[in-house]
Amino acid sequence: MTEQRTVAIWRDGAAVAVPAAEPVVTAFDQGLGRGDGVFESVAVVEGRTPHLDAHLARLDRSASLLGLVSPGGSAWRRLVAAVVVDWQPGLEGVCRLFLTRGLGDGTPPTALALLAPVPADTLRQRTEGISVVSLGLGVPADFRAGAPWLLGGAKTLSYAVNMAAQRHAHDLGADDVVLTSLEGRVLEGPTSTVVWATGGALHTPPADTGILAGTTQARLFARAEADGWPTAVTAGTVDDLHAADAVWLLSGVRGAATVHTLDGVRRGDAGLSRRVRELLAR
Ligand SMILES: *Cc1c(COP(=O)(O)O)cnc(C)c1O
Repeated sequence: MTEQRTVAIWRDGAAVAVPAAEPVVTAFDQGLGRGDGVFESVAVVEGRTPHLDAHLARLDRSASLLGLVSPGGSAWRRLVAAVVVDWQPGLEGVCRLFLTRGLGDGTPPTALALLAPVPADTLRQRTEGISVVSLGLGVPADFRAGAPWLLGGAKTLSYAVNMAAQRHAHDLGADDVVLTSLEGRVLEGPTSTVVWATGGALHTPPADTGILAGTTQARLFARAEADGWPTAVTAGTVDDLHAADAVWLLSGVRGAATVHTLDGVRRGDAGLSRRVRELLAR
C-alpha cells in the first residue's frame, strides 16, 4: 500500500492544506499538553464521506460539553474537502477531525483535519471478527449523568485511558475491550459501541451512563427498525452478552466487528452479522 496522508488546518477563515510531515500546531497547544479537545473519526469510502453530517452534529455536541467554540459545519466541510480532494478513490481512509482549546485564554481553538489509510488491522478485524475482554471502568452506571465534569457523552481527545485499556487487552491476547461499570453493567468499547442480539431484537446500553452515542449504532438501529428488526436500549451485563445470539462492537471506520471470543470464551453470531453489515451498507 502506498503511504498516503494529508492534513488541513483552519487558518484565518480558510482551510489550508499542509504537507503531512510539516508541523501545524504550536507546542503550547492545549490539545497537546492536556488532551483538552474533541475529535471525530470519519470513514472515507470511494473518496466520499457519506456519514459526515452525523459526525459533525456530534462534534458540535462534544465541543459544547467542553465549552469549545466550533468553527461551524461549513468550516469542517471545507477542511474535509481539502484533505479528501486528491485522495486515491480506491483506498479506504479515516479522516480525523480535531478541535482543541488552542493556546487557551480565549484565543481561537485549533481546528484541523487529517486523512490516512484505514489500518490493515482494522480491515482484518472487520472481516475476521474480534476477541474482547471485559474491563472495569470503576464508575457507577448512573454517576456520569450527574457529573458533567467527567464529560460523559463527549468524544474527547483525552483517550489515554481508552488506549491503555486496549493495550491491556492486547497483553491478554485479545483485540478489544468492553468497559463495564462498577456494578458490572456493559458500557462501551474504548472506541466503539456495544450492540447485541437477543430475543429477536438488537440491544445497546443507555446513553445516560455517560457512554458516547455512536453514529454507526444509530444508523444500524434506524435501518433495522425500518426493516422490521426491533431495537431496544437495554441495561445489560457481561452475562447478558455471553447469553446473547450475537455481539458486535460498532464504529464508523471498522463497521460492525463480530465478537467471536468474550473473556476467553468462544461464541457465535447465529448468522446475524451478514444482516447487520447489509443494513449498515444500504
Ligand atoms: C468514536 C467512538 C464510538 C463510535 O462512534 P461512531 O460514531 O459509531 O464511529 C463509540 N464509542 C466511543 C467511546 C468512541 O470514541
